[in-house]
Parts: sequence; C-alpha cells; structure tokens
Amino acid sequence: MQYLKCGAEKFEFEIKPLGKLCKLCKSEVPVVTLTTQNLKLCKNCFSKIQQRRLSEAVKKYRMFGPEDRVGILLSGGKDSATLAHLLKKTFPEISFQGLYLNLGIRYYSDFAQKAVEELCESLSIPLFVYDLKAEKGFSIDDFVFTSFKDKICSVCGTIKRYLFSKVARELGLTVIATGHHLDDLLSTYLTLFFNGDFISIKRLVPVNLPLFEGQAKKIKPLYQIPEREIFFYAVLNELPLEGCACPHGEITPSKKIKGILEELEKENRTFKYQLLSVFLKGFIPLLRENFEESTLVPCKVCGEPTASVHGICGFCRRVNLLSRIEDKTLELSLAKWQKIEESSERQKWMVFDVREKEDYLKGTLPSAKWISPSLLENEKDLFKTFRPFREKNLLFFCYSGRLSYLFTLKLRKMNFRAYNLKEPEQILGIDQVPENG
Ligand SMILES: [Zn+2]
Ligand SMILES: [Zn+2]
Repeated sequence: MQYLKCGAEKFEFEIKPLGKLCKLCKSEVPVVTLTTQNLKLCKNCFSKIQQRRLSEAVKKYRMFGPEDRVGILLSGGKDSATLAHLLKKTFPEISFQGLYLNLGIRYYSDFAQKAVEELCESLSIPLFVYDLKAEKGFSIDDFVFTSFKDKICSVCGTIKRYLFSKVARELGLTVIATGHHLDDLLSTYLTLFFNGDFISIKRLVPVNLPLFEGQAKKIKPLYQIPEREIFFYAVLNELPLEGCACPHGEITPSKKIKGILEELEKENRTFKYQLLSVFLKGFIPLLRENFEESTLVPCKVCGEPTASVHGICGFCRRVNLLSRIEDKTLELSLAKWQKIEESSERQKWMVFDVREKEDYLKGTLPSAKWISPSLLENEKDLFKTFRPFREKNLLFFCYSGRLSYLFTLKLRKMNFRAYNLKEPEQILGIDQVPENG
C-alpha cells in the first residue's frame, strides 16, 4: 500500500514475510520492522508495542482517568485512526467520543467523513459530526478569496482548534486527544525555533492543562510514536482511511523539515528521541522559567477566551475577512456554463480539459485545450502555461471534478480567475462516444 503524505513524499508498505520468526514471540512470521530498534516483528507483537507506548504516555502524564469523558479528534487520516484504535484497544473501560469537523472542502471532506464513520462504527465509538458550512455558512475553500489563499493549512488549523474547543465544552468532554506524533512534534518545534516563536514551543507538550474554566485538557498520546510506524499500524490493522488527499495539501515549512529529520535519522537511529528529549527535558523547562503565561480576555466578537492583543480571536478575525467577499464561486454547474456558452460572455473564457490525452482526442468540449494532468506537479511550469491567459476566466474539467478542482485551487492561489466544472460527464455524453473514437 502507498500512502501519500500531505506534500510530495509518500510511504510505501507491503505486507510480506521479512524472515522466519518474529524477534519477540518467536512463533509468528515477521511482517513489519520497528524502525527505531530495527526489530522484525509479527503484526501482533508490533501492535502490542504501540499499545504499550501509548499506555506509558497516558500514565506518565496522567492524561485521563476513569472519571473523564475523552473526545478523539478524527480527520479520516492514518494518525487519528490509529489513535482511536489504540485508545479503544488499550483502555476499553474509558468512554470515548469521536469528533469530526466537516470543513466543506470539496472532493475531500465528505470522503473523509465516510472513513471516520466507518472507523467509529467498527470500534463502537459514538461520533459527533460538526458541519462547518451548515453551522457557520462558510467553508475552508472560501479562504482562497482572501489574503490567506496560500496559507490555507494554517487557517484550517486555527478554525479546527477553535471549533473543537467549543464543541468539546458543549458536549461536556473533559479531555480531547489528537493524533500528533513524534514527527509532527519535532518538525513543529524546529519550525517554531527558526521563527523565534518560543512561546508556541513552550505550549507544544504532550499535555496542555485547561487555561480557563470549562476548557478540556488537550493530550497527544502518540507523541513518542514515529509517523512511519503509525502508518504501518494503520495498514496492519486495516483501518479505514481517506489518505491525505486534501486538495489544499500545501507543502508547509514543517513538512519540509520532516524530510530533513528522516535524513538525519538515517545517520543515527535514535536521533528523533534525542531531539525530543532536548525539547521536553531541556529547552521547554527553561522557557517556562522565562516566559509567563499570557493573560486571556474574552473575544470582543464571540466571547471565547483569547490571548490576542487586538482583543479579537484568530477565528473571528479570519471569518471577518470572508464577510467582505461577495462572489465566492469556484464551481460552475452545467446549466450555468451552458448559459455562458450561448452568450457574448463566452469570449472572456478559456476551457481546459485535464483528462488523459487519449480521452481528450476522443471528444471534448467545444474549443477546449488539452492540459497535461502532470502540470500540477510543477508550480513554475503551471504558472508559465497560464500566464498568457491572465485576463481570462479559466474553466477546468476532468472526469469526476476532483483533478480539475486541484487546478482550480492552485491557480486561484496564483491569483488567476479559475473555475471548476461540476458533473462534466453529462456534457461529454461519455456513453455516446464510440469505442474507436
Ligand atoms: Zn511476534
Ligand atoms: Zn472570537
């Protein structure tokens, strides 16, 4: 199985025998390597080691007890799925509550929700779904119309933290668990360090106690588990995943640092644990002595506690940007496009077919140009190709809308007026295309 991480890299893992006997139980066939100790293990022993790591983390930091109601933030990806599976297997007596935030990201959020629903059902964990579009009237995609267009991942983070914190309180949860793992923690530490953001480093710990009455405690039970092993765990246990196919999938500085960490680990197998210890045992205690906790005030707009110097929380400031945008159209329906096609507006438009070339040759929309789907992989070439059409409206289509939507978003982020066509198969009448073209 391949698993594309957000960004360019990917993990690969195929379940096959790695030797005769598992190094621990000495009875089963080993199928997976525990990377940090280079031990070849069977599925059972590998899963048990991860359960033990999780259980140690929970006990060491007293993350929760039998009296707690623990929410698990689920995204549809491998990290949170593994977290839920490990928690449920290790602590069957605790009452867990799954939380999913549908952010209205087209061609993604609904698929991820399905994976989360399947996961919760298989683990018998109740699930609460918060629908951003239905509750607040906007979606994450709308931010491509704001100055945050190339920082969607960061906006998404702010919005998720705000809403999860609120939802947890409304549901009476005392603890919320997130799937942040060893590589997340380390790459974020280094990114923050390079930015000189020591206050944020100080807050990035396995447990954050509530800062105000009614706030849930935040825990990261996977903080000692490397990302690669989480992926192995998810595959071995056949967890339902959506993968990391978020169309925004930006390559953030912290994702680049993950690549560097992987390289350093090749030189020294315990490097990541050394670095974790430098931060948790050395640097963060020093920061605690030197930086005081910032005071919280109620946000002037929504009333939620905020440390912002403006007195308006990050959520409200970002949402306010959206209120100034009148037209947030990113997709055209078939009917809408047909109207444009028949009108004098048509000359302001260019149409691009991003399907495979052989399908384009079999039949396409009137005057559509073919664009190689691989152009998406190179931002410079993408920009150069479309630069001559700066003044035009650009309409993209593919088979399902998913790939052409990636073009639409990428070009929007480069300030082009790009649109995606919904339900393209209806226009093409694919059924009517003769087999020999
Ligand atoms: Zn074994
Ligand atoms: Zn606010």
